[in-house]
Amino acid sequence: MSIVLDGKKIRDEILAELRPRIEALKVKGRPPALAVILVGDNPASQIYVRNKIKACHELGIRSLDTKPPASITTEQLLEIIDGYNRDANVDGILVQMPLPPQIDAQQILLAVDPAKDADGFHLFNAGSLVANRPAPRACTPAGIIELLKRYQIPIAGKDAVVVGRSEIVGKPMALMLLNENATVTICHSRTRNLPEECRRADILVAAIGKPALLGADCIKPGAVVIDVGMNRVTDESEARRLFAHEPQRLANFAKNRNLLVGDVNPRAMRDLSSAYTPVPGGVGPLTIAMLMSNTVRLAEQHLS
Ligand code: NDP
Repeated sequence: MSIVLDGKKIRDEILAELRPRIEALKVKGRPPALAVILVGDNPASQIYVRNKIKACHELGIRSLDTKPPASITTEQLLEIIDGYNRDANVDGILVQMPLPPQIDAQQILLAVDPAKDADGFHLFNAGSLVANRPAPRACTPAGIIELLKRYQIPIAGKDAVVVGRSEIVGKPMALMLLNENATVTICHSRTRNLPEECRRADILVAAIGKPALLGADCIKPGAVVIDVGMNRVTDESEARRLFAHEPQRLANFAKNRNLLVGDVNPRAMRDLSSAYTPVPGGVGPLTIAMLMSNTVRLAEQHLS
């Protein structure tokens, strides 16, 4: 029997542990504060930002939001960031990605004060991760490390394979696993024999963005499988193929005409792994929890 790694449960644990730290900060002077910048009206970004602000409110973190129009220039956005950088009452700054094409996203990420980089995307903090020095960490991979540790899944000495090498998930994930003393392989779209590489994994992390790309031929029996992917399936035959073993999910599909699926075939993952993160309810809930955790830690540093 495979263990379902419950991201919601771990999220709740992380948030519960943050509450007394937030209360202590209030006693010391003020609650932690997170500034969120949402450019334009991308519907997915709006939902992400709404959820982040909601999490702040529920925890007692002060949130400030700025919503400039999609037509904003790089210079104007830099001015907004500069204002938050100078504001001693702001602990964390988050610029929701993606940004409109006229904006130089690299320049924007570099403009955020590394000591206020709630997402851990600044190059200085990425470098700190490479050097295994304390700094805000990218939220999704940091959440996965929390999940593994809280389920007492050993990492040191294990063969870990990360599929995907994005700056926000794959690369920082690989470095975090390396820092935990795993032997790490990184795969990507040019990897020659993906199933063969994946089958070596004791811990397999899929961060690809392709529905159910990794099948039974990619999972070593007994591996721990972490599925970061969040893909919408709208094709009925595809939904039936992937979820024939889950009548409830198919009933939901019949109602909503879409289903969320990860990057790993859900049935193969359930049947072959020793433990796995479901989609939804696995990795997803951890990302915001780690954003809150980063913000509280930054506030503790600012108020110490
Ligand atoms: P990116 O598109 O930035 O990166 C995808 C990576 O997958 C790339 O490195 C790419 O390789 C690799 N890849 C693509 N196709 C293949 C293939 N056929 N074989 C092997 N590797 C392949 O995606 P992200 O890292 O931003 O996100 C990945 C997934 O995770 C998405 O589904 C996203 O929605 C989800 N996600 C979930 C989060 C959560 O909170 N649960 C948070 C962030 C992301 P190459 O570099 O060669 O192009």
